[in-house]
Formats: sequence, C-alpha cells, structure tokens
Amino acid sequence: MPLRSFALAFVALVSPYCLSGQAPPVLAARLPIVLIKAGKLLDVRKGVYIQNAAVLVEGDRIKEVGLLTDVQPHAPKDARVIDLSKSTVLPGLIDCHTHLMARFPDIDDAYLITLAKESQAYRALEGAANAKITLHAGFTSVRDVESEGAGYADVALRDAIRAGLVEGPRMQVATRGIAAVGQYNPFHVSPDLHDFPTGAQMISGVEEARRAVREQIGNGADFIKVYADWNHPTLTFDELLVIVDEAHKAGIKVAAHATTPDGIKNAVNAGADSIDQGYEADQKAIDLIKKNSVFLVPTVGVIDEWADHISPAKGSPNDQKWVDDFLQSIQRELQMARTANIKVAAGSDASRAKEQGKNALELSGLVRRGYMPVDAIRAATINAAELMSWQDRVGAIEPGKYADIIAVDGDPLLDVTILQHVKTVIKGGEIVKDETHP
Ligand SMILES: [Zn+2]
Repeated sequence: MPLRSFALAFVALVSPYCLSGQAPPVLAARLPIVLIKAGKLLDVRKGVYIQNAAVLVEGDRIKEVGLLTDVQPHAPKDARVIDLSKSTVLPGLIDCHTHLMARFPDIDDAYLITLAKESQAYRALEGAANAKITLHAGFTSVRDVESEGAGYADVALRDAIRAGLVEGPRMQVATRGIAAVGQYNPFHVSPDLHDFPTGAQMISGVEEARRAVREQIGNGADFIKVYADWNHPTLTFDELLVIVDEAHKAGIKVAAHATTPDGIKNAVNAGADSIDQGYEADQKAIDLIKKNSVFLVPTVGVIDEWADHISPAKGSPNDQKWVDDFLQSIQRELQMARTANIKVAAGSDASRAKEQGKNALELSGLVRRGYMPVDAIRAATINAAELMSWQDRVGAIEPGKYADIIAVDGDPLLDVTILQHVKTVIKGGEIVKDETHP
C-alpha cells in the first residue's frame, strides 16, 4: 500500500469515534445456533452413552451438552436442527501420527521415485487431497508428523485449511523432521547426486541439530519430529538433548520416532514428549516411558495392513518368519504398555495412497492387541488432545470446545471397526459430510 493510501486508511479507521472519545456502537450480529439431536452420545471420559442427547452449538463452539429434554428449551426457535437421533454420536477423532503430504505409490523404491518425479507444488496438492479424505473419515484434527520430503508444504496446507481454502482437519505440523545424515529415506541414491532431496533435514553434530530446530520453528513448525533411530540408534544423545532443549524453550513438543530399546531410552532421557512406533520396546524402555509420563503412539494399523499384504502372497519362508517375529514383538510391546498403563495416543502413520483416509484402522489394531474399544477411542480423542496440548478445544463433546462431532450407525464400544464407516462429520459446527441423510 502506498504511504498516502495508508495514511488515508488510518484516518478512516480512527475517526469519528476515536477522535470524539465515544465508544463505537456494538455490532450485535448473532452467531449461528445449531441444535444437534443425538440418539446416543458417547461421554469419552466416563465411557458411557447419554441416551436421547443433544448438543447446542453457537458459532463453531459447543455451548451445552445433555439430555435433549434439558438442552432443547435453551435453543432459539429458529435454531438449525441436525437430526442424528438414530445415530451414535462421538467427538471428532484425532490422529496423532499422519503424513498428509505423502501419497507414495505401491511400487518398489516408491519414496525415491516420488522425490525424483514430484514437485513440491504437486506434493502440496496431494496433501490437500489426503486432508479431505482424512476429514471425511471422521478425523477432525491431526498431528502431522513430518512432510516426508515435501519441505514446508505442510505449513501451507495447515494455513490453507485454516483460511477455508482447502477442506481438511485442524492440523499441527512438524515440517521436515530431523534425522542423522544418511540414516533416513531415500536410501540407495547414487553418491554422485549431491543435491538429491531428502526425506528429512539431515544433521550431524549438536550445532546442526540446534540450527535445524530453529529453522523449522521459524518456518512454522508446531512441534518437532526427530528420528532417534532407524533400525539402530542414530542421533547421539547430545544431539537429541539439544533438539528437545530448543523445542521446549520455544514451548513446543518433540515426537521421537524410536523402535529399538536404546533409541527409545535415548529419546525419553533426552526429554521427548512422545515415542512413536516403539515396536521393539523392552520392559526397561516401557518403565522409562511410564516414569516420565511420555505418550506412546503405537502406529499398528498400517502394520496389520502391510503384514496381511506381504504374507502369504509375497513372502518367502524367511520373510514370513521375520514378519511373525516382528508382529510378536509389537504384541509384547503393547502387552507391557497396557500392563504399565502407559498413555497411548492413536496414530495411523499412513503414507501410501491406499492408506490415506483409513486412520480408524489404528483403533482396530489397538483392540486386536487387547485394548478395550473405549480405550482405543480415548487414544483417538482425549488422550490425543492432551498430547497435542489441545485439551481445551478438541477431544470431547463438552461446552467451550470446537463443535467437532461425528456420527456412526451401531455401537463402537462393542465393535470399534464401525469407526471405519463414519456417516456424518461436523467440524466447527459445519456439516462437511452427511451420509446419515442421503
Ligand atoms: Zn511416520
């Protein structure tokens, strides 16, 4: 804006009320009010249904929740009604481990080929497609745990969703992720290709670690993702310590990919806020997670899909044994986690095209490993909200929180796979999908 126009605009803004000392008249525009009737509504904290319930929504927030007979008299006569009186109503689900920027094809060397062939602009558009699928699957918030070589396109996607340009869940983004040089995708790139893109920001040494965190925060990261190991521990303890220190100083959390016992211990001792995967955790690692009140994000849903796919069609007897041992290791991990009552948040880890929008498979994966359906639902609601430090705004149908609400047919406390077929999705009081009223 030229200086003269700016000055004119400023004069227009300050007069006449500011100059006269009078308060400007209050604009009394009323926020839209919606009454949602719910056949039964899940109280995720208590793990029980409220029968014949209702939710009163004002603008994008929940104003009141309770029995229809109590709530309805408080709704104005002209309130819009969303009738879910034949449905089961739950809070919008939360996925704490997505990769919305990743839509890898189901081929050999998919990661490498994607980085070689797809522009950042195209990756961002893929992210927009994945965001829509995820929202329509009933996931109204996600913690997106690194862009897998799409740079800061996740920041752009988050902001475009906030601006209403793109349909998608509320997002927290990690941006690029941080890994040790040579210890993350893509692998087997010719050493002659010096500038070939990487799947994470590769660092070596504490000063590069510090710079990576500062850069990512400066470019819009809501939290930091770090690879504590990749088949074996990779970053040094000192590098992890600096990464956590820089993030916590800025008031943001750190998600650590760790599968090995030593990788988990290094990450927890360095102060990471969540251990993502944790597949080979031993009892000591589980005890350490518990002692430090760290979240576990098991990401087992995609593992089941992958294991079903690899065996028996593809696997040789040796492959099959490796897969069986791996699945047993995860079984032990979650048995120990359950016994120790570790806080678990759901995370689907979808990164292939065919996995996007199947976020609720994670809840089935948890139940398959002994969790009660209500605990799997808590992992995708109140627990996930706490991990994201968003417990004041999402994760339960309670006054003051965003009106992020889903509806299904049937009883997900008896059969959690029902959540793979969400019929209605409401985000911030707006219907984004409605198959309840076809
Ligand atoms: Zn992941």
